[in-house]
Amino acid sequence: MTGSRAVGNRTVMTNLGTRSIAVVVTFVALLGACRSNDQPASVGGNNRAHISTVNVSETERASFLEMAIHGGPDDASNRSATAAVQRWKHNVTIALKGEPTGEDLLRVHLNTALLSKLMAPLTVTVTDKPSTADIVVHFVDRNRFAPLLGTHKYPPDADGVAQPRVGDGTKHGGEIRSVTVVVDRNLGQFARNRVTTHELLHAIGLDHSTCASSIMYADGTDDPSPLWSPSLLDRRMVSLLYRSEIRPGATLAAVDKILVPSLPVGAQCTEPLWQLVIDNTDNKSYLCEASSQQYRPCTGNLTLEPQYPLIDPDLWFDGTYVYYEFPLRR
Ligand SMILES: [Zn+2]
Repeated sequence: MTGSRAVGNRTVMTNLGTRSIAVVVTFVALLGACRSNDQPASVGGNNRAHISTVNVSETERASFLEMAIHGGPDDASNRSATAAVQRWKHNVTIALKGEPTGEDLLRVHLNTALLSKLMAPLTVTVTDKPSTADIVVHFVDRNRFAPLLGTHKYPPDADGVAQPRVGDGTKHGGEIRSVTVVVDRNLGQFARNRVTTHELLHAIGLDHSTCASSIMYADGTDDPSPLWSPSLLDRRMVSLLYRSEIRPGATLAAVDKILVPSLPVGAQCTEPLWQLVIDNTDNKSYLCEASSQQYRPCTGNLTLEPQYPLIDPDLWFDGTYVYYEFPLRR
């Protein structure tokens, strides 16, 4: 969905329109079979005193239930009964295939280092052996998506897709076993950075967020953040997902009991601080401070995420430039 609003006689696109999704494939039907393994034995009933709880803020709890509990495509009407956590249980290796740029390689390495820190004691490392890697990221043309994913079940305009294969049964329920990621190599680098980070967070078990400053924001009417690093809230979600108390296959009800909203403050869903603006006259892209001020500082350097407030702006955005649909094509 892409909305638009008029600014003077020009158009401002109000939605980045990033279409990247996670397609979840289970080895066996997830329904029912994993119920017996859903919950830690200590949760619920007379064993309530033995629940290992995690203290979070109300915002963190709500975000986690939104982003880390997967309902599956067929059970939306009964989400609370079958929705469950999906995550890795062992150390994760990532390999790149296709035609990644040097910047793509850097982005994967930086995300790998960050995830390794957030998912400790599990480690996440980059390997040069795709045949044995847990996650393989393919930087390819869109016409390669379907053959690599083995399915056409994703939006035809998807810029990237992450397809986790998730185990089932009492032993492996909710455990991510391998992931195929595809990223459109014809996206501009700036856009590819964002799509790559987004898909890697799908690959470790996070779903979409309705928070516009989240890297996992997928659709809605707000202007999403155009930056390409996980937000503080996103990082908190990853670290919560890999707490030992949160087991693969844990149901919504189980997680609801584990996360106790007792912290007065925590990671917040903040407003996006930046907006992508494209100068209509020379097609040059800028990152501009998001505010209600008519004149706002901007930087044309899209290779670094800007710091707020911006020192030495390249120009001052007066609201008259075209803000094209993101992601940019080259
Ligand atoms: Zn997505």
